[in-house]
Amino acid sequence: MGRIRILSDNVANKIAAGEVVERPASVVKELLENSLDAGATDIRIDAEAGGRRLIRMVDNGIGMMRDDALLSLERHGTSKISDDKDLTRIATLGFRGEALPSIASVSRMLLETRARGEQSGTAVEIAGGKLLRCDEAALAEGTTITVRDLFFNVPARKKFLRSEPTEIAHLASLVTHYSLAHPQKSFQLRHNQSELLNTTPVATLRERVFQVFGSQILDELVDLGDLTRDLAMPMEPEEAPLTRRFRLRGFVSGPQVQKLNRNSIYLFVNGRLIRDKLLLHAISAAYHNLMPPACFPFALLFLDCDAEEVDVNVHPSKTEVRFRHGSLVHDFVRDSVREILMAQRPVSRIPEQSAPQPGAGLPYSEFSQRMANMSFDAPLPAGDPGHVPDFVLRRTQSPAPRFDFVEPSGAGTSGFAEPLGRLAVPETHGPLFPGAHIPEPESLEALRDLRPLGQIHESFIVAAGRDGLWIIDQHVAHERILFEQVLAQRARGAVESQRMLLPMVITVSPAQQLEYARIAEELEALGFETEPFGNRTIAIKAAPAGVSGADIEKVIFEILEISERELRKASLEESRALMAATIACRAAIKINMKLDMAKMDWLLKSLAATACPMTCPHGRPIALRYSTRDILKSFHRI
Ligand code: ADP
Ligand code: MG
Repeated sequence: MGRIRILSDNVANKIAAGEVVERPASVVKELLENSLDAGATDIRIDAEAGGRRLIRMVDNGIGMMRDDALLSLERHGTSKISDDKDLTRIATLGFRGEALPSIASVSRMLLETRARGEQSGTAVEIAGGKLLRCDEAALAEGTTITVRDLFFNVPARKKFLRSEPTEIAHLASLVTHYSLAHPQKSFQLRHNQSELLNTTPVATLRERVFQVFGSQILDELVDLGDLTRDLAMPMEPEEAPLTRRFRLRGFVSGPQVQKLNRNSIYLFVNGRLIRDKLLLHAISAAYHNLMPPACFPFALLFLDCDAEEVDVNVHPSKTEVRFRHGSLVHDFVRDSVREILMAQRPVSRIPEQSAPQPGAGLPYSEFSQRMANMSFDAPLPAGDPGHVPDFVLRRTQSPAPRFDFVEPSGAGTSGFAEPLGRLAVPETHGPLFPGAHIPEPESLEALRDLRPLGQIHESFIVAAGRDGLWIIDQHVAHERILFEQVLAQRARGAVESQRMLLPMVITVSPAQQLEYARIAEELEALGFETEPFGNRTIAIKAAPAGVSGADIEKVIFEILEISERELRKASLEESRALMAATIACRAAIKINMKLDMAKMDWLLKSLAATACPMTCPHGRPIALRYSTRDILKSFHRI
């Protein structure tokens, strides 16, 4: 007896309908969800040309018998629900019976499947929705679906596909995230024959996070553990009390990791990767006062609850849900995350410099492009455990400053054992700065009465504090000060700007001209006075105070670039933050610049007055601290 039935019109009409297949990643999402629903434990995916030329998904799930294989390609053919009551308690990832027929209608598809316990399998070939053949075939148990030439018969669709690297990045990100949701399963992804992800089964989420992101990221994250709560549901007075069990697991970053948008927040509800405003809000609320308002954490959260508590039949791509008791869920998530964050004392050491860090030391334009790519289903690095995801945006690969400290005798026994003069080649020297820490939140108090002692390398301010010795990167410190200043002035509608004696005329590309027209008003709010000046030229008459000379032109181009790549996706707040960060970066004092004591003192005081003095708007650390205790220990006084 087959398992698949065609849903009645009554049920089919109650299903959120719409486009399923938008791009290669959406094909992979549907196929992956089917394999997981089929109980597969080993999933192999091959893609070619960003998934346009080929996507092949091989699973070892329950497979299908001949009749089911044919029915699976019919609209509303599904084994997962049968009546409309089932719609209120969906426990599988799929339920609409639309994915396979939709994919088959826009590609050349080969479905090969053999049901568990059957002697032989079935191969069905279908192109542009037309059945070409259905044959008995000798196959391994499980299902293999090969999708070739996506959108071959829908040229308009094909035109909208992005570049190969972009499409594969979306696809890889998706597979990576699903692999995080199933640590006990194997996932393999190859693109053009080269391996992008290969995870073997592990027992815990922690181990899978390690497999996918590497140990360095794990160090940045706080483990939520496994929180289970029975929450009392709000009831009418005459109703019997009812509790429902909610379970929350996952990882969040400490407040020192700050992202400019929500793209690094990954939410799974009952194993489904979703985007949910309520949960996003709960997470932001958990970081309230721990992070400045325009910053966001990295989070990987798995919320599990009774299927009746969550409606997934809300959006055609199944990426949105509606909770039956939204505010209870919101508060549970917010309070759980906040509690862990408060209990945690993030002692983040200077990262050991073993792996290259993409994103580190990038020019801002490239950095922002990467930020733009970190969208919901955008690239997360996969596979190589030494690979560090872009969300660690610390400048550890930029030329390391040379510290000329006196090497203590008895090296090897103290915290200063490393000859610090050799820090320029940290890869071979273990921790960059033994004993030095990125200051913890409680050090913020001490920041207020730092006394500058001098500069190293005309780039780093050395300061005495009541809790030890501090080293502050003058450029990023100033960047943080200006960033908050620009945003605050922008909010008041009073950005300080300077008029130029002669307008500066810049030439832009046609695309930039369009962008300019779109954001001219925002530029003005940020302190730029500009005017279109003939064909593809813009006259700049005034710029934000502090940005000078050639930097003015660079800021404009950077903002146009951010705007082009990021603004369409980002919220207005996020875009403003990005623009403000660009201005701050250009206006900030540079490294290799001599500062007098008064300037240093001013810089430290202003830094202490910022909302978030520990990381620059791009997420790099601003200050290092040697605690008095470490100093005492290093001199063998304790
Ligand atoms: P849905 O997942 O919403 O039911 P699909 O069009 O994605 O709809 O799939 C139709 C049916 O085909 C599923 O209900 C399932 O019974 C069957 N099916 C699809 N993929 C697989 C697979 N990889 N292994 C076993 N059965 C599958
Ligand atoms: Mg499906």
